[in-house]
Amino acid sequence: MDQATPTTGKTERIRRMFDGIADRYDFANKLMTLGIDRLWRRRTARWVASHSPHKILDVAVGTADLSMELTRQCPALEQITGVDISEGMLQKGREKIAQKAPQANIQLEQANCEALPYKEESFDAVVSSFGVRNFEHLAQGLEEMCRVTRPGGVIAILELSVPRNPILRCGYTLWTHTFIPLVGSLFAHNRGAYNYLPRSVRQVPQYEAFTKMLLEAGYGKAEYKAFSGGIATLYYAIK
Ligand code: SAM
Repeated sequence: MDQATPTTGKTERIRRMFDGIADRYDFANKLMTLGIDRLWRRRTARWVASHSPHKILDVAVGTADLSMELTRQCPALEQITGVDISEGMLQKGREKIAQKAPQANIQLEQANCEALPYKEESFDAVVSSFGVRNFEHLAQGLEEMCRVTRPGGVIAILELSVPRNPILRCGYTLWTHTFIPLVGSLFAHNRGAYNYLPRSVRQVPQYEAFTKMLLEAGYGKAEYKAFSGGIATLYYAIK
């Protein structure tokens, strides 16, 4: 990040929070989404695969689930680089790759996504799942993602969202304000982190507001597709 960029300390708080829940992150995730997150990642990877990328950057890679799905779906793939601020999450990711996809060429590196340590136009595709709502400076993070995407390359961002349908929204609110914090305290031993989750979803720009940010970051023709009634949304664009 630019030395002059003011910080509220959010990035450091987020890093510590994910370091603290890394061991139980995958299990809590599956429980909270009843396993549907896997389907959402699969559909995201399918869209990326349709552009036949050779080099992919997975931003806020966490424990590397999306990266591993991409290695299954992208036949022309040569290398995936995953970056994350939390060494705890990266360590879990490395263990999973060694167990489940030892042949895959996935390199995990610690970096702040708001100041990516890569040259301009280095990747055919830049992806992120459930990461960008945690950025301290979202616009700067998206500009960085665009900077390292080659012209004609693609971006795919999978993020949680608030359903637009009022009935679904009621169910969603109940779920996120009761069940998710309960799972957080029982299984991840960190209620705070899982109280933060619904709050962060409400705060991140959604649907048209998010695609507008992609255009402002330098991508063209940004679109979105809501999954499961809008509990998650895939935002995608071409540079
Ligand atoms: N992509 C993974 C997935 O699909 O499960 C992990 C998502 S997890 C909810 C969010 C991740 O974003 C965490 O691993 C966190 O450390 C990472 N993160 C948040 N802010 C970041 C930043 N500024 N730079 C790099 N990683 C960041």
